[in-house]
Amino acid sequence: MEQILPIIRQYWGYDELRPLQAEAMQAVLDQRDSLVVLPTGGGKSLCFQAPAMHMNGLALVISPLISLMKDQVDALQACGVPAACVNSTLSPSQRRQVADDVRQGRLKLLYLAPERLMSGPTMDFLQGVKLSFVAVDEAHCISQWGHDFRPEYRALSVLKQAFGGIGIHCYTATATPRVRHDIVSQLQLADPHVLVGSFDRPNLVYRVFRRDELLRQVGEVIERHRDESGIIYCIRRADVDSLCAALCDLGHRALPYHAGMADEDRRRNQDAFINDRARIIVATVAFGMGIDKSDVRYVIHAGAPKSLESYQQESGRAGRDGLEAECSLFYTGADFVTWRRLQQDSNPQAVQASNALLAGIEKFCATVHCRHRAILEYFDQELEAGKCEACDVCLNELQFVADPLVIAQKILSCVLRVKERFGAAYVSRVLVGSRDQRIAAEGHDQLSTYGILAEEGRQNVRAWIDQLTEQQFLAKGEYEVLHVTPSGRQLLRGEIIPQLQTPAEQPRQVTQLEVDAWEGVDRGLFEELRALRRRKADERGLAPFIIFSDVTLRDMARRRPSTPEGLLAVQGVGAAKCEQYAAEFLPAIVGYCERHQLATDLEAPRPARPRPAAAARPPHAIKRQAFELFGQGQSLEDVARGIGRAPSTTWQYLSEYLQQHAVCDPAPWVDEAMFERIRQAAEEVGRERLKPIFEKLGGSVSYDQIRIALTCLAN
Ligand code: ADP
Repeated sequence: MEQILPIIRQYWGYDELRPLQAEAMQAVLDQRDSLVVLPTGGGKSLCFQAPAMHMNGLALVISPLISLMKDQVDALQACGVPAACVNSTLSPSQRRQVADDVRQGRLKLLYLAPERLMSGPTMDFLQGVKLSFVAVDEAHCISQWGHDFRPEYRALSVLKQAFGGIGIHCYTATATPRVRHDIVSQLQLADPHVLVGSFDRPNLVYRVFRRDELLRQVGEVIERHRDESGIIYCIRRADVDSLCAALCDLGHRALPYHAGMADEDRRRNQDAFINDRARIIVATVAFGMGIDKSDVRYVIHAGAPKSLESYQQESGRAGRDGLEAECSLFYTGADFVTWRRLQQDSNPQAVQASNALLAGIEKFCATVHCRHRAILEYFDQELEAGKCEACDVCLNELQFVADPLVIAQKILSCVLRVKERFGAAYVSRVLVGSRDQRIAAEGHDQLSTYGILAEEGRQNVRAWIDQLTEQQFLAKGEYEVLHVTPSGRQLLRGEIIPQLQTPAEQPRQVTQLEVDAWEGVDRGLFEELRALRRRKADERGLAPFIIFSDVTLRDMARRRPSTPEGLLAVQGVGAAKCEQYAAEFLPAIVGYCERHQLATDLEAPRPARPRPAAAARPPHAIKRQAFELFGQGQSLEDVARGIGRAPSTTWQYLSEYLQQHAVCDPAPWVDEAMFERIRQAAEEVGRERLKPIFEKLGGSVSYDQIRIALTCLAN
């Protein structure tokens, strides 16, 4: 590894490795088969590209898509790494040239599609070549259980025999154990080193909204990212066409992409997006695989995705460069109905599986807890820090309602009063007193709960119903009909207090992530460099991010180098790029600094990075450990320290522990005197709401402590 780091500095211009990159590279150097699972943007390519530069021979890279190969080879060549690909777009003479380069040992990496590698002549040719290893990119394509199954990947099962003795290394962002198992067994990997990274993407800010006026909502996100690249996902092709047309009418440079379009139109639109000629691509899920564009600054879901896995993949296309990026999801209950309809033609087992996946994303949409945590827990991983500082919940863009119990009781009573025969949309209309004919026809305008939440607004009421369903006080039966669960009955008796949220009044805040990522950057210079990058990209027929990433341009606009040595110190500038671009970028920097009387050649400190990605540890083990420590009567602070979690998380665990174990005495977490004061206050103002108790006690007792005391009283 000591020899690899200088190679990375020289060719890629990076000073540090990302999590698991060192281990993954070590496996390649050791010639031990490996399977590396890292999320999109985790930096999988470098794991095989850098060792390929160091090792003797040619590395073969199996890749499923021509566009993906082309981007990777362009990026490698731009860094001065001798790489090529062979595919159908090459002319016979270009192909002969590649073969000649391979024979002469001039290449370090060769990209191929699986069907080409497996063709007789290619195989024969490669058997006579000194190979360093084989890398299988997008390795989940081999598994039927993956979302991108490609039958041609199956043929790779002969790799091990065909090239016996060299390492086979597989890379994927798909996390499910079944897919991992398939990859290992089908490729016959020998005692592979399996490295699974964290699925946390700390630089992505997740926000979830109920959709009301989509165009306005989408417009607000776009406005925050003027002149930056973004992807907007829609569920259906018709939605793509109408939203794209509406955005163009508003003057945005948006293009559509879906499977109903001609191949050529799709390719043209994809290229325009990658080359920054169009800023926005409005697409179905058909768009994405093979998009290596690193500077996508936002991904909008104009409708709910079909699973949390899909959401992780699709939203993960934002911020691959590690800079802050925004992922906003706009949904309504109708989206889930649409997905169910689209998927109903599959076999019963598949329908069942897709319904279970839909339930997962529905839960995610309605959660009142940290969204990074929710995604990680879905993948059986756990967030280390208490707050992620990168989702609407943790950024306090949502606020807890002051009296959730009363509101929830009104909602649940309404569900009971309509005899548990209606869905969320109908129940919310009754609660806000809608003049809907059906409600009158059913006589539900006569119910005591009719219009009881009129002042709260339908959007809020509808969101609360989802939140209560997510917290399992309500459940959905056939045809989405709501019914009250046993814990819902406890809630009606005031024994459990739910959590309900609404959007906060204050406008969206600038996140710390954004502040840190722009720290010390001269924005004007950044924009000038960006324009220069565009011109160079057009001249050379390359995607702009292949010339320099946004990380590099920001670092340039931070350090403002005036010499080649200074340029080499910029993140992402290796020797080849320095040589190629110094003559144009340095004068641009110096000229700008002279015009604006700015100093050049600053010793810029490395900008603060997003918090480190969460460790890949299963959550259950941590919760179990917390319960054990609570059982020993340890204080909250000690338990928090013992499990390495923030007090806020530990309070949450404690509340679950008390409920599960029916604990009646809150000592040692709430001392006797305090418990007594809370009990008395609760007697005077009632147990339904926390706020009056909090106020009665003059704010001297925390909400957490009140909640714990009330749980024990209820027990
Ligand atoms: P993946 O294939 O896992 O989705 P990539 O290999 O495309 O991710 O890497 C994502 C981005 O991160 C690329 O722009 C890449 O150049 C950059 N990158 C990878 N490793 C590092 C590193 N150690 N330091 C800085 N940038 C890196």
